[in-house]
Amino acid sequence: FQIEADSIIVAIGQRPDVSFLDGSSVSLRKDGTIAADPQTGLAGEERVYAGGDAVRGPATIIEACADGRRAAEAICRQLGVEFARPAVRLPALSEGEIVRVKRARARKEAQHRPEMLPPAQRGGFDLVEATLTEEAALAEAARCLQCSTLCDKCVEVCPNRANYTYFVPPVSLTLPVISCRQGRLTVTGEETFRVAQRRQIIHVDDFCNECGNCATFCVHDGRPYRDKPRLFLMESDFEREEDNAFYIERSERGWTIRRREGGKESRLSVESGTGEMEFENDLLRISLSSDFQIAGLELKEAFDGAFSLTGAAEMAVILKGIITSLPFLPD
Ligand code: SF4
Ligand code: SF4
Repeated sequence: FQIEADSIIVAIGQRPDVSFLDGSSVSLRKDGTIAADPQTGLAGEERVYAGGDAVRGPATIIEACADGRRAAEAICRQLGVEFARPAVRLPALSEGEIVRVKRARARKEAQHRPEMLPPAQRGGFDLVEATLTEEAALAEAARCLQCSTLCDKCVEVCPNRANYTYFVPPVSLTLPVISCRQGRLTVTGEETFRVAQRRQIIHVDDFCNECGNCATFCVHDGRPYRDKPRLFLMESDFEREEDNAFYIERSERGWTIRRREGGKESRLSVESGTGEMEFENDLLRISLSSDFQIAGLELKEAFDGAFSLTGAAEMAVILKGIITSLPFLPD
């Protein structure tokens, strides 16, 4: 619609109207914003949460959304309800589209400069900054680096080429849960293991000097050089690690991936051709079919409780992804 007007004054409120909180135990800061816990949004009174501009002052809508999610998580915790994160649905890009995104990132496209009214003519109501033409608006939109669609930032910014993209086929497995009671192993349940994202990142620790560049650029505020699976090319370096360390070697009948967590080692050997596997740690040895059905169980040291095979499934996914996408690394 169109409305005739002599002049238009943009009047956006910059202060929250919190008068309805008068008399409550929600406290306000000097600038009128609500003093809420930045981690939970709890606003000083039980069951009252706040976020967004009412807490931060003028800020971005992204920050307001993040406050909302943090508050939702805190509310679920308070009520003893599981907070179900919505699944991230990334559009699948074809190889050609990925090349186009990477090419756009490799070129510096200058920002569009809108036509400006010369300062001497700005005394009246003439538009100072011209709006974009359709062509200019499309060119501006094309400068987007599409981090939310295809990231790989940690791969691109590492000066030492220590982060690699590898590909895994989507996986959905039903894993048996094994329990040990009074020195006996039995299958007592099952759990689901899924990997939906085809593109994965592996960090090769041997090449990294911990400059932190990848953490600076990570769009999810992560520390890829610590958070991503850390592959070691030198066995002696791997054996010194306590956590998040992987080492891949050829074995007699295929490949073995070794993993260290909590200072302890586990290994998964996969037979070439059949895909049959053997998982072993300090407590047990398990023979598995290629789809993680148990073919044999051996207790090495009695323990009390349940044992999850998700760690072994992660090892299988990483091993398969590395030897098919990055075969030069383990060799
Ligand atoms: S911290 Fe390591 S992986 Fe990250 S950019 Fe620096 S060298 Fe590369
Ligand atoms: S770890 Fe961070 S920088 Fe690397 S691909 Fe994931 S989101 Fe992007």
